[in-house]
Amino acid sequence: MPRKPFYAEGIQFECQGSGKCCTSRGSYGFVYLTDADQKRFAKYFGITKAQFLKQYCGEKGGHVHLIDPPENKGDCMFLKKNQCSAYEARPEHCRTWPFWPENMNPKTWNNEIKTFCPGVGKGKVHSFEEIKAVLDSQKEMEF
Ligand code: SF4
Repeated sequence: MPRKPFYAEGIQFECQGSGKCCTSRGSYGFVYLTDADQKRFAKYFGITKAQFLKQYCGEKGGHVHLIDPPENKGDCMFLKKNQCSAYEARPEHCRTWPFWPENMNPKTWNNEIKTFCPGVGKGKVHSFEEIKAVLDSQKEMEF
């Protein structure tokens, strides 16, 4: 029988608005964008998708991501005073934090995410089913 995932009983998480997930954590530095994210951002800024891509995006391994201006030292360019200045248009990548596939193993969760994100252990319990749905939704995303 397969072993139960460590989040089988759910996980307590509620965003505390620390903005920490918007700061650089080495390899986690990039914010990737789906096509729908690019369109939402373009609409939000009142520009075309092509203009948005030119002004705000880069590409790595065929995946579109927000650029990191050097003065931001790897933090997201939309992070202002610890808050997302484009919150309504924020990408799926941000909406699904902290339930990212690469975070959902006991080692990463306990050694990194739990200590890094002040929202872990606070507020609502997200059930196994909810977390699985968030993880599954990311499988279908094409960044
Ligand atoms: S787009 Fe907004 S929520 Fe996403 S990393 Fe940037 S500041 Fe944070």
